[in-house]
Amino acid sequence: MPRLENLRAINKKQVSPCYFRKLKTGFLLTNDLGRHCLLSPLEVQRYLRGKVAKNTVLYARLQTGGFLKTGLNFGRCVEEWKKKHAYFWFRGPGLHRIAVTARGGDMSLETAAKVVDRIFQAPNPSVSVEFLGGEPLGNWPAVRFIIEKSLERAEKCGKRLRFILASDLNWMDEKKLQYLLGAGVRLRIPLDGPQDLHDRNRALLGGCGFEHVERWWTEILRHTSIPSARPNGWAQITRFSLGRPEEIIDTYVKLGARSIELRPLSPIGLTPQTWDAAGVTPQEVVDFYRRALDHILLLNSRKQGLHLSEKTAKMFLIKILRQECSDPPDVRSPCGAGVGQIAYDWDGSIFTCDEGRRLGCMGDEAFKIGAVDTGSYAETVGHPTVRAMAMASTLENQPQCSLCAYKPFCGVCPVYNYAGQSDLFGNMPSNPRCRIHMGILDALFEKFTNKRFKVVFDAWVAQNKGEPLY
Ligand code: SF4
Repeated sequence: MPRLENLRAINKKQVSPCYFRKLKTGFLLTNDLGRHCLLSPLEVQRYLRGKVAKNTVLYARLQTGGFLKTGLNFGRCVEEWKKKHAYFWFRGPGLHRIAVTARGGDMSLETAAKVVDRIFQAPNPSVSVEFLGGEPLGNWPAVRFIIEKSLERAEKCGKRLRFILASDLNWMDEKKLQYLLGAGVRLRIPLDGPQDLHDRNRALLGGCGFEHVERWWTEILRHTSIPSARPNGWAQITRFSLGRPEEIIDTYVKLGARSIELRPLSPIGLTPQTWDAAGVTPQEVVDFYRRALDHILLLNSRKQGLHLSEKTAKMFLIKILRQECSDPPDVRSPCGAGVGQIAYDWDGSIFTCDEGRRLGCMGDEAFKIGAVDTGSYAETVGHPTVRAMAMASTLENQPQCSLCAYKPFCGVCPVYNYAGQSDLFGNMPSNPRCRIHMGILDALFEKFTNKRFKVVFDAWVAQNKGEPLY
C-alpha cells in the first residue's frame, strides 16, 4: 500500500477514483471502467502527486485508462461501462442448468417439457442449456427430449441456442456420441490428471476411471475436426493433486485438449468426511495454481502450435483485457443467481443457481425459488431470495470488496458464503474463495510484465470471441 504521507499528497484535481494493489512486480491501478495500469513505485508517486509530465507515454497510458481527470471522455466511459455490464439490462437468465438425474430420481418427460417452457419464457435472446447432474447420460430420453424441444422453440422465436453436457461419460456409447455431436453439444468432462491421480480422486468423489475417460476423449477427438468442438476438461484439485500441477497439465496436452479448468474442490454438496479427506486450503490452491500457470504459459510460449488455455484465467483475462463480462455468470457483481442463470432439479424444482441446487440435494432448500409446475417466470426471477442474493453479491455492499483493486473483475458467491460462513454476505477477510481469486488475479497481473506470456494471454482472449466459456 502507498504510505500515508503519499495519500495526503494526492493531487485530487488530477487523480481519478481508482483502486490500488501492491504486487511483486510493482503497483496495480484499476478503476470501475475495468481498466488497469501497472506502475513502478516511482511512477505511482508521480501519479499521485499529479507530477506526470504531459506528452509522456505514462501520461497517455493513464489518460487512456481513465486514471486522470483531465481529458476524461465521459461518452466513452459510459459506453465502456454499459458494455461491461451488458448483463444488467433486463435480459433475464441466459444459462439454464438442468439436472435430469439426481439422487432422488430421474426427470420425467412431462417435467422436461415444463422446463423447456420455462427456459423460453426468459427474454434473453441467447439461451445456453447445460446438462449436469448426477450423470445426465443416465437419463438419455430426457436429454434428447430437451434438446429437440429446445431446438424447435429456438427456431420459432429466433433465439440463439447452445448446449453443454457435463458428463463423466459413464453411459456414453457410439450412437449417443453421434447424436450429441450432430446437435452441436459441447462436452465437459472431468479429468483430474494422470491415471493414478484421477482414479484416486474419482474413487472418493465418484465418476469413471481414467481408462474409460481417455478412451472416449480420444473417440470424440476422432469425430471432431473443428477445434471449438473439442471436449473441455476440468480437473478437480484435491489434496492429492497438490504436488502435481505439471503432470496434470501434461496429461491434457497429451490428449490434445485446448482448454483445462483447474477447479479447487468446493465444500458445497460434499460430506464432511470427503472434505476432510480431500479438501484444500486457499494457500495450497494458490501455490498450486501459480505452478500450473507457469507450466501452461511455458508450454504455450515454447511449443509451436500448442494452444492450451486455463478457463478461470481466461474468464478474468476477458474482463481485464477486453473490458467485457465473460460468462459463466458466477463471477460478477451482482452474481448471476436467478438473473444470469437458473437451475432445475430432476423433479422440476427451480433454484437460483447450480450451487443452490446442490445444497438442496443435501437437504437445505434455502435457494429454491419455485417449481416448473407452479408460479410464473416473473415470480421465480423476482423471488425474495434472488433479490437478497443480488444485494449480498453487489461488491459495493461488501466492505472489503468495495475497496479492492480486483473489484472490477471479481464476484462473490452467496451460496458459498452461506454454506461456509453461515451468511449470504460472508466475511471476505476469512473467505477462502476470496483468497483464491485474489491469489489467481495476483498471479495473472504479475505475468503481464513478461512479454512472451502477455502474447499468450492476448491469444487466449482472442479465441472464441463472443462465445461463453462454459
Ligand atoms: S472477493 Fe476478494 S478478491 Fe474479489 S473483490 Fe472481493 S475482496 Fe477482492
